[in-house]
Amino acid sequence: PAPVLTIDGPSGSGKGTVSRLLATQLGWHLLDSGALYRAVGYAASLAGIDLSDAEAVTRCAEHTRIGFRDPGAGAETRVLVNGHDASDALRTETCGAAASAIAAIPSLRAALLDKQRAFRKAPGLVADGRDMGTVIFPDAAPKVFLTASAAERAQRRHKQLKDKGLRVTLVDLLREIEARDRRDAERAVAPLKPAADAVVIDTTGMPIGTVVARILALLPR
Ligand code: C5P
Repeated sequence: PAPVLTIDGPSGSGKGTVSRLLATQLGWHLLDSGALYRAVGYAASLAGIDLSDAEAVTRCAEHTRIGFRDPGAGAETRVLVNGHDASDALRTETCGAAASAIAAIPSLRAALLDKQRAFRKAPGLVADGRDMGTVIFPDAAPKVFLTASAAERAQRRHKQLKDKGLRVTLVDLLREIEARDRRDAERAVAPLKPAADAVVIDTTGMPIGTVVARILALLPR
């Protein structure tokens, strides 16, 4: 099977940016697994589905078409939900919270399992998420787990959202991110935690280029 490099960690740990840069540099495929959970949460909300209704949410995941389109020229990947571009809506913390709520549903996680594994193709895959190394690609090597202080993670997310023209206060964001991370770490199924064989990198105060270089150095050459 094609090689997989997993990048797990809490929100704002730098995973998204780092995974995108690594996939570009290596010429590998990229799986943004958080986008799948966000897309299902978004589709379910649009359909008026109660997010605590495990069966309805799982059925929704089975019927939602999620596509990724690379606009090229280094621009960010667009996410298509049932054929329409939902990228901007998906980035909001409202969608992040909806994703985190449904991510605790075991049957939903099971429904997304094969969809995620299908991204593993030659020449290789960079898989970004919470359970890439622990559940989805247990045989991946190397496995990386990124962390950063809660304050710095909130600041990074705040900057990202501001750059997208979305207005949120830093205090609200810090509170929301901490609540989401707590829920992700405490859930019974696939809780957020480093795989036993993951290399943990604390990115607090670390430039993105340094993080990328550290991870590239872990790859067999
Ligand atoms: O990474 P992102 O912030 O887009 O993820 C949104 C939410 O989706 C996370 O807070 C988490 O609850 C869920 N998620 C997950 N497993 C993954 C990726 C994301 O449970 N592999």
